Amino acid sequence: MWSSYTCQRCLASLKTGVRPQLQCASQVRLSPQRWISSQNDQPTKSRLPTAQPLLTKRSVSSTARRYQNIAGDVVQSGTSPGLEYTHAPGVSRRVLLQPDNLFHSFSNSPSPDIRRRAAYMKQHAYCPHPDHRQTRQPTTPDDPEAKKSSTAGSPPAHVRFECPDCGIPVYCSEDHWADDYESHLEICDTLRQINEDDHDLRSGRVFPEFKYPGPQLEGALVNMTNWDTFLYSREFEAINADRSMRQVTRLLTYPITIGSVLTELSPYNIRRGGRLTTEGLKSLSALRYTLHPPLSGGGGDIKGLRLNPPAVRIFIVGARAESSLPREVWAQLTHLFPRAKFHIIFIGPESMSNRDDEFPLPPRTPSNPYGAIVEDRISGELKISTYVEYYHTLHKAGHFYPYDPYFDCFMLFHPGLGHPASSHEWEETVPLLLETKVPILATGYTEWDMQRDLKWVQDKMGGEVDLLLEPGENKFRSLRWDLNDLDPQDISCGNWGLWGFRGKRYETTRKD
Ligand SMILES: [Zn+2]
Ligand SMILES: [Zn+2]
Repeated sequence: MWSSYTCQRCLASLKTGVRPQLQCASQVRLSPQRWISSQNDQPTKSRLPTAQPLLTKRSVSSTARRYQNIAGDVVQSGTSPGLEYTHAPGVSRRVLLQPDNLFHSFSNSPSPDIRRRAAYMKQHAYCPHPDHRQTRQPTTPDDPEAKKSSTAGSPPAHVRFECPDCGIPVYCSEDHWADDYESHLEICDTLRQINEDDHDLRSGRVFPEFKYPGPQLEGALVNMTNWDTFLYSREFEAINADRSMRQVTRLLTYPITIGSVLTELSPYNIRRGGRLTTEGLKSLSALRYTLHPPLSGGGGDIKGLRLNPPAVRIFIVGARAESSLPREVWAQLTHLFPRAKFHIIFIGPESMSNRDDEFPLPPRTPSNPYGAIVEDRISGELKISTYVEYYHTLHKAGHFYPYDPYFDCFMLFHPGLGHPASSHEWEETVPLLLETKVPILATGYTEWDMQRDLKWVQDKMGGEVDLLLEPGENKFRSLRWDLNDLDPQDISCGNWGLWGFRGKRYETTRKD
């Protein structure tokens, strides 16, 4: 994501030839003991630290997945901080960083977690200066690796030098940083924002944005135009600061992205530029029929008893850290559909990411042959199951059979379908998903990431695919940028893009 962010301050100083002054990099040094006072000695393992899971795995864009797969590196080892605002019971909250004091260079951060991340980056990330030899194949046209030579140049070097403006280790030396300054300026402001947002999460402040409203009053419509209207009409506590918006949308993007497509109030439609295709409207109409049932006329007494329709199943295939989001975040999906029930099913070998406290998995029994974790007491409207298993294994065993376009939907969060490191894993799964004729929604970290997935589906699956939702920016993407600790040049944004497809349906025609 090489966006057009340019720091005016830096540009000005470039022009005048003055290097920006180092800012408050080491002004605040709290002792580590004091800093982690809220945590006891165990890193917090409660469900809450979910902004973190996103940091560790989710934020890692497809490039990092590739690293992970190839080098077998565990990204988490470098980036496993908990959220310090998750206070242990009985420990009172202490604000450690004020809103005007959030910027600290990573290696001098008051947070031990962030200092650990800095050390990890310095060990694993490479200097992007074009004088170095290439360390890997470039993955996108904008990848700084593309500017390096694969044969000539100095040996690759790890990042050592922290830019004084963003506080993140980005180059091997001050010389390389100064020499490549103009290309760094493109991301410097965003990196600084990431730096401050990460420190904000660990500041110990009160987070009113993480208080989630309960069920929506029947008849009170939710305005799904964008994040602002959504948060307002869902009566979230007033979120006026950009930073709070970034923190809250980073978690809510997962349930609300799904909800924004399925709801009858969806911002995607078949009008010009509305991105929904005719096939998409057909598929969604079926689901909306279930999700927005007519009032049954049933009352509270025995005479008013009516049969309730079964739950709508949302299969989250290839699930990773989103499976560890607090359940009240996932419950926000159900609140958009007051008269429907949901069963969310996380499937994939990584679907227990950041859920260490729930191990061991239940034993495999005849009634639970895949050892799924079933949480059926979240609320009357929401049940969640987790299968640490490949989808194609479950599909072939007929485990979820039968599929019904009125009751089922697949969701793939940043699947990396077309990514060289992960596409082979999808080759067996995607044809089975198409076979069900159930809608499949997918997101991507960037425009490039999403288009690559789309192209892969079109190339591999030939004409067997109907496009339901044309690819484009997700109206409910995370507003927060995330950093890939293995490559600080690679910044991305959760669920940036959104599109949808389905196995092709053939109309039967009469032969006269
Ligand atoms: Zn260098
Ligand atoms: Zn910088």
